[in-house]
Amino acid sequence: MKIAVLPGDGIGTEIVAEAIKVLEVLDLPFEMETALVGGAAYEAHGHPLPESTLKLAKEADAILFGAVGDWKYDKLERALRPEQAILGLRKHLGLFANFRPAICYEQLVGASSLKPELIAGLDILIIRELTGDIYFGQPRGRRTAVDGHFPGAEEAFDTMRYSRPEIERIAHVAFQAARKRSKRVTSVDKANVLETFQFWKDVVTEVGKEYPDVALDHMYVDNAAMQLVRAPKKFDVVVTGNMFGDILSDEAAMLTGSIGMLPSASLNSKNQGLYEPSHGSAPDIAGKGLANPLATILSAAMMLRFSLNQPEAAARIEKAVKAVLSQGLRTPDIYSEGTAKVGTMQMGDAVVRAIG
Ligand code: NAD
Repeated sequence: MKIAVLPGDGIGTEIVAEAIKVLEVLDLPFEMETALVGGAAYEAHGHPLPESTLKLAKEADAILFGAVGDWKYDKLERALRPEQAILGLRKHLGLFANFRPAICYEQLVGASSLKPELIAGLDILIIRELTGDIYFGQPRGRRTAVDGHFPGAEEAFDTMRYSRPEIERIAHVAFQAARKRSKRVTSVDKANVLETFQFWKDVVTEVGKEYPDVALDHMYVDNAAMQLVRAPKKFDVVVTGNMFGDILSDEAAMLTGSIGMLPSASLNSKNQGLYEPSHGSAPDIAGKGLANPLATILSAAMMLRFSLNQPEAAARIEKAVKAVLSQGLRTPDIYSEGTAKVGTMQMGDAVVRAIG
């Protein structure tokens, strides 16, 4: 088994170092190889996703990714910006299924902006289609309007589209994930207004017939956004398109308190995956030892479960994370009175100790 380790920029290097410590203590038979990505790769090689990094990623069974980006690259032409590395990896590896669990640890109930009774015990999984929809549809661009409300005016447009196989494969991923949980899927769409999402709803319904043991319901995206903050525990597996998933998964992330706690996985049809925390490179706290490494450590656990077929090792990590939270250890983003404030390395060391 081979893991490509791509720490990236900002806090990426600090948090990935802690995840590696945790992986090493498990003493499993895998090889790890590190490469530059994002701004760090641009500085060294003139490109955020150099050929050598892409080759390593393609050859690996899994990629452990930190984060990329820094405000200082905002003026670079789009193709050279650090964030393009993630888009490039998604595209070249065909990573079409994004998993974002939102779990509220009982020890962190107070860190959420919602009332404790709404989020205590929350455990939902958002599955977002990652390579289609309006983010990738062609044509797109700017032109002079020939019709609409203002003919002759400058306008911009994008194309929303989904093909049947794209919807079928993400639906299968969602139903299969639901089978390992509480056997419920909510498909989120905007079928009342958009042709693309009426098609989405029809295809998901058809696929659902192959999973008679899984309950399927459908919800419009505006209602889903509302229900996520009104009664989030009503959801279990949520499956949706790229744009709605982008927005809803960030909303779900905040239910749990800190973005520093949330892992993610992006998988292709061979179960090869990219595992990364849900947050960015946090340039405001980079290099200060303040970053919470738990999202990255939990991403490593997802990697063991989904791509490396090591579910027991994954469970050991998840149990250790709960143990350090129970010990009262908190990085500043999840700190509250009466708990012990620790830095990035101390948190990583505590997880290593808890694994034992
Ligand atoms: P961000 O997620 O980096 O930070 C948002 C806020 O959350 C900041 O206040 C930050 O300090 C805090 N934060 C994030 N992760 C944390 C952690 N582990 N522990 C404690 N606090 C944490 O988002 P941003 O500030 O909007 O973006 C910063 C850079 O990251 C930009 O260049 C952006 O493009 C990039 N970005 C990268 C990714 C990625 O690599 N997948 C995702 C989002 C943003």
